[in-house]
Amino acid sequence: MKYLDEFQDPDLARRLLDDIHATVTRPWALMEVCGGQTHSIIRHGLDQLLPDQVELIHGPGCPVCVTPLEVIDKALEIASRPDVIFCSFGDMLRVPGTGRDLFQVRSEGGDVRVVYSPLDALKIAQDNPGREVVFFGIGFETTAPPNAMTVHQARKLGIRNFSLLVSHVRVPPAIASLMQSPQCRVQAFLAAGHVCSVMGTGEYPELAERYKVPIVVTGFEPLDILEGVRRAVRQLERGEHRMENAYPRAVRDEGNPAAKAMLADIFEVTDRAWRGIGVIPASGWRLAERYREYDAEHRFSVTAINTQEPAACRSGEVLQGLIKPHECEAFGTTCTPRSPLGATMVSSEGACAAYYLYRRLSTPSTPSTPSTPTTPMEASPVG
Ligand code: SF4
Repeated sequence: MKYLDEFQDPDLARRLLDDIHATVTRPWALMEVCGGQTHSIIRHGLDQLLPDQVELIHGPGCPVCVTPLEVIDKALEIASRPDVIFCSFGDMLRVPGTGRDLFQVRSEGGDVRVVYSPLDALKIAQDNPGREVVFFGIGFETTAPPNAMTVHQARKLGIRNFSLLVSHVRVPPAIASLMQSPQCRVQAFLAAGHVCSVMGTGEYPELAERYKVPIVVTGFEPLDILEGVRRAVRQLERGEHRMENAYPRAVRDEGNPAAKAMLADIFEVTDRAWRGIGVIPASGWRLAERYREYDAEHRFSVTAINTQEPAACRSGEVLQGLIKPHECEAFGTTCTPRSPLGATMVSSEGACAAYYLYRRLSTPSTPSTPSTPTTPMEASPVG
């Protein structure tokens, strides 16, 4: 298959690995930002092929995982209303809110529908003028443009029974927040290539300079990731800290100007809470004031819902790279994809799901090996 097989070539992978092994002289901790990269690393066993000195720390870039509990609870509240058709990507339906999830709302009679595009939700609104249709708009810089475009279309077409429950987040403020933490061990970042294909690379040189940390824009296939690691390790060994683009087949410095213009028109930057992490300043988007009529939080008066994360789930530590999933006491025992305690076990990009799915269970803290793993829900568009 063109554009996929050639980035999984074992001979080229071996060469990149040989180069990394020959370059490394001391321990380094690298964080891959995106959950899609985490799954690729664990699925292909890339971390086990690297020199012992190179540790890959899994980052917060799973959109489902970082959506805070209070936003899930707002979704549950809205989806329970008899006049509402609540539309979402499949990943979100099993994310536990306080006491239940969207699947349970559906089983109790709520009209909760899985869609594959926000435009599908807009079509449902067009076809059901007597109902309120809400789309659950979560994710990073990758999913924000189509959601913005859908609001643009709704206004253009005069569709008033459509709204967006927004919980969009931005990567660069999260990198800054991680680097400001006294517990941070990250010495280099593999930045998320798909995010940069939208936003470009412009925000990263300043971050690399401010925190003296190499940032390598990296793709998702095995060779992409090994090349990202190779470049990051080379910088670290040389004492450098630059932004490098190791994913030029998808990422241009300027990003996607049309998508950025759409984002700038529909959204405005806001402080945003990240699940298990807390509020990160300027780390999200909300609908701009002139589009507030499409904001489901305001339309359904759920802004006051404010819930706390459950103490049993350590996903906040997982998302910050402070622990690996199998170091959570609940991993594989009281928390599995079939019975998840946290979003990182549900999402197709969650680190806990990756460790469970690919059987990273051979640790002293894990008493038993579960039976056949349950595949996380069908992927929503990454990012
Ligand atoms: S294993 Fe389950 S309980 Fe533990 S951090 Fe992951 S999602 Fe949370």
